Amino acid sequence: MKVIIVGAGVGGLTLALMLHQRGLHCEVFEAVPALRPLGVGINVLPHAVRELALLDLLPKLDAIAVRTRELTYANRFGQEIWRELRGLDAGLDAPQFSIHRGFLQNALFEAVVKRLGSDAVMLNRRLLNYRQDESGVVAEFATTADDRLQVPGDIMIGCDGIHSSARALLYPNEGDLRWNGVMMWRGAALHAPLADGRSMVVAGGFSHKLVLYPIGPPQADGRQLLNWVVTYRQAEPGSPVPQREDWNRQGAISDLLPHLAAFSGLPIDLEALVRLSPEFYEYPMVDRDPLPRWTHGRITLLGDAAHPMYPVGSNGAGQAILDARALADALAVSEHPIAALTAYETERLPKTAAVVASNRSGGPEGAIDEVERRAPNGFAKLTDVIDHDELQAIVSGYAKMAGFAPRQHSTHN
Ligand SMILES: Cc1cc2nc3c(=O)[nH]c(=O)nc-3n(C[C@H](O)[C@H](O)[C@H](O)COP(=O)(O)OP(=O)(O)OC[C@H]3O[C@@H](n4cnc5c(N)ncnc54)[C@H](O)[C@@H]3O)c2cc1C
Repeated sequence: MKVIIVGAGVGGLTLALMLHQRGLHCEVFEAVPALRPLGVGINVLPHAVRELALLDLLPKLDAIAVRTRELTYANRFGQEIWRELRGLDAGLDAPQFSIHRGFLQNALFEAVVKRLGSDAVMLNRRLLNYRQDESGVVAEFATTADDRLQVPGDIMIGCDGIHSSARALLYPNEGDLRWNGVMMWRGAALHAPLADGRSMVVAGGFSHKLVLYPIGPPQADGRQLLNWVVTYRQAEPGSPVPQREDWNRQGAISDLLPHLAAFSGLPIDLEALVRLSPEFYEYPMVDRDPLPRWTHGRITLLGDAAHPMYPVGSNGAGQAILDARALADALAVSEHPIAALTAYETERLPKTAAVVASNRSGGPEGAIDEVERRAPNGFAKLTDVIDHDELQAIVSGYAKMAGFAPRQHSTHN
């Protein structure tokens, strides 16, 4: 059997490694002519790290990422609302990693080249079309403006991200991504470690939010790469996006500066951190409604192509990795590839649809959204605003639903 994987992102490369581990043949086709370390910080939660550990990638991740120890939620005045341990420190059997998205992609790419061979990933191959019949599928890729390549295979997996061509071919009338009105600015800069250098802070609420976490081990001079995200709700949910979503669109300091003023009481000079960042990016928070199905005969979807979700709750890369595991397992045991694709979809579509839905209502960050709604100007005592059980229900409920609930939970002031 030959599996055609479209897209060499986190999902596609992980799938290639997992198929190889199970003795299944695949080839990866990626649109860009060169893989560059694009993006900024993401988190890979323990349920997904467990899968990467089974691919023997832990030593590599330890060299380029941070094992996140603690997460604190606060309001925009820096008043603590919730604090919990993460990963191994929370009693789980795998760590949480905070990592540069481009470094993760690169680590996966290097592993694929080493294990599957240097021709396993073909760059400069943009999916244009496909056709299928009872015996197989033929994917058509553009290599240059007027050159086309026909690639036969048994099945084709669309792992081609939020602007998936595979999805657009299956659902040509789906329309635009859905914007919730929130704009995000994202960047990273080398900075002295905050606290223990392994802690993450999410501060603010419904209107303005700040996410801060380190994504690299300390350098020789003691500094480490500190990732920041500032979000602002600037339009009603469902408004048309101001411009096409592009992960690499650079932000303007004049747009961002007024929003930094919303935060105070932080353990860091936020404006200085932003100004230290060599560049930063602007991205609208977009997703799509869950599809009725991903699998159409010999074609299916995986990762953001299947279930683009708001980046709250640190689940985008993780859910793509979990998809890859489910699909690789199904292909390894099923007698027919079409049965495997159906089994994969049956397992993963409902679970990821639940994450998409939960992220729309704030995911675990619903806890600070709720505190802001009730106490927009801060509080004297948190328990006058919200009680522990309510916070626990939001935060732990999300962890349970998304599949990474710790056995022990939370301190709370
Ligand atoms: C450049 C870039 C920067 C990102 N930065 C961030 C970030 O800073 N923070 C964050 O939370 N998430 C970021 N993401 C998204 C994040 O990587 C995903 O949400 C998550 O990892 C799920 O991965 P995925 O494999 O489904 O999609 P992705 O990681 O997006 O990978 C999709 C891959 O498919 C390729 N592709 C697209 N169209 C075609 C086509 N027609 N034919 C062949 N290949 C195609 C893309 O070039 C890409 O390599 C970024 C994605 C990209 C592509």
